[in-house]
Amino acid sequence: MRKYKIFIDGEFVESSSGEYFEVVNPATDEVISLVPQCTEEDVARAVESCRRAQKEWKRIPASKRAEYLKKIATKLVENAEKLGAIVTEEQGKPLPQAINEVKRAAERIEYHAEWARRIEGEIVPSDNENENIFIYKEPLGVVACIIPWNSPVSILARKIAPALITGNGVIIKPSSETPNSALEFVRIIQEVGLPNGIVNVVCGRGSEIGKAICTNPGVNMVTFTGSVETGVRIMEQCAQNITKISLELGGKAPAIVMEDADIDLAAKCIVGSKVTNAGQVCNCVERVYVHEKVADEFLARVLELMKKVTVGDGLADPTVTMGPLINHKAVEFVDELVKKAIKQGAELVLGGKKPEHLKRGCFYEPTVLVNCKQNMDVMRKEIFGPVLPIMTFTTSEEALELANDSEYGLTASLYTNDLNVAFKVANSIETGELYINRQQGEAINGYHAGWKKSGIGGDDGRHGMEEFLQTRVVYLKYR
Ligand code: NAP
Repeated sequence: MRKYKIFIDGEFVESSSGEYFEVVNPATDEVISLVPQCTEEDVARAVESCRRAQKEWKRIPASKRAEYLKKIATKLVENAEKLGAIVTEEQGKPLPQAINEVKRAAERIEYHAEWARRIEGEIVPSDNENENIFIYKEPLGVVACIIPWNSPVSILARKIAPALITGNGVIIKPSSETPNSALEFVRIIQEVGLPNGIVNVVCGRGSEIGKAICTNPGVNMVTFTGSVETGVRIMEQCAQNITKISLELGGKAPAIVMEDADIDLAAKCIVGSKVTNAGQVCNCVERVYVHEKVADEFLARVLELMKKVTVGDGLADPTVTMGPLINHKAVEFVDELVKKAIKQGAELVLGGKKPEHLKRGCFYEPTVLVNCKQNMDVMRKEIFGPVLPIMTFTTSEEALELANDSEYGLTASLYTNDLNVAFKVANSIETGELYINRQQGEAINGYHAGWKKSGIGGDDGRHGMEEFLQTRVVYLKYR
């Protein structure tokens, strides 16, 4: 079994607690590694080293910082298979999806390197004579990046690349479910010779060290991806020092299938979104509204595709297209939602249980529920599993109202060939992202940000990168 160390000030070191927690392979239930449980003292050490290193890092021209990022991206591609296998082992997604995640992370890093020469301030015309107004765009300092388990490498890259290119230093806190990939990631990037202290990794249960990270006065920003519940706690913790936050939280993405839609396309995209990473994706379809006139045709197509999904251990079996959920608690949560929906009147047409041929691991069958109602938990709570609840509607106004009737507002999708409907929904949907006639999946140069309880701030593209900058102004009066 592997035993890891944390990464502080350019070195792999023991935690001050001397304690470890276990990381489990969700496909086999086997313990795969021991990872140090950090303390407040370890967090303070990481922050201190990062503050020291960042003072130098911000002085390096951005184009030189970009050289480091480009080298990191190259190293990641070279190590994609190795790191991908680590992701599959601790997180469960099939190996090709995990390798793709690593390559995507490399793309994200390369993309941010391209921004180096475009992080610009402004000169604003003054209302006073002989005066210049300079707007500066500067790094914030130390950025804590708190990462979930569902896409551990991709989200890590999504946070650290914009932080580093804009001249910040980072403290990474991976999920306790998936710390191995973060520690292997820094082992790889250590080879590019980044200055010591500019990237650090501390591990341990968020409930135990999260507060130490968020309330450390040396941390200038916390960028977080995870659940709404933890987002609330992070806001509370960051309030202590008025620390800047960026929160990418949960979702309950609606998919609307109109009467005129390309049904084949809609079914393919919706099923694809639902079974990728076993439905553990913040923007995957979480509830479907299908026009009553095409509901039967749509359901038949969905069932055909769902039945083709092969569930199993994505590391041991290359034919597997869907892996396990992250842990047994997640399986119980999903199963309870399904059982409750059936009790409330939904009809189970596929799945609804653990696969019989898999004796170990956290697996759940691809599941389809019809006759769902808006007030059922399965239509309101984030499922984060391979369950597709379907409900019918009659008019586009009704569909839009149902889609917006949620405390979440991350993403939505719409299938129609009617431009009038497309614009009506595009202009009125209450989500940060809308996908029309295509499967969910954000672009690295887009902007991924939630409305309502789905978050504050956002990631990706120019707008996401600017989150990592402090804007300040200098007034210069001359004679
Ligand atoms: P989570 O339970 O909220 O955990 C996320 C991270 O927060 C983990 O590293 C966790 O550490 C840490 N944490 C827990 N308590 C903390 C505290 N008090 N202070 C600071 N950090 C703390 O979320 P998850 O289960 O890993 O991820 C699934 C959720 O993420 C879903 O809701 C999903 O929708 C959301 N998500 C959103 C996006 C987006 O872009 N909007 C993308 C992906 C996922 P431990 O693991 O040690 O508890």
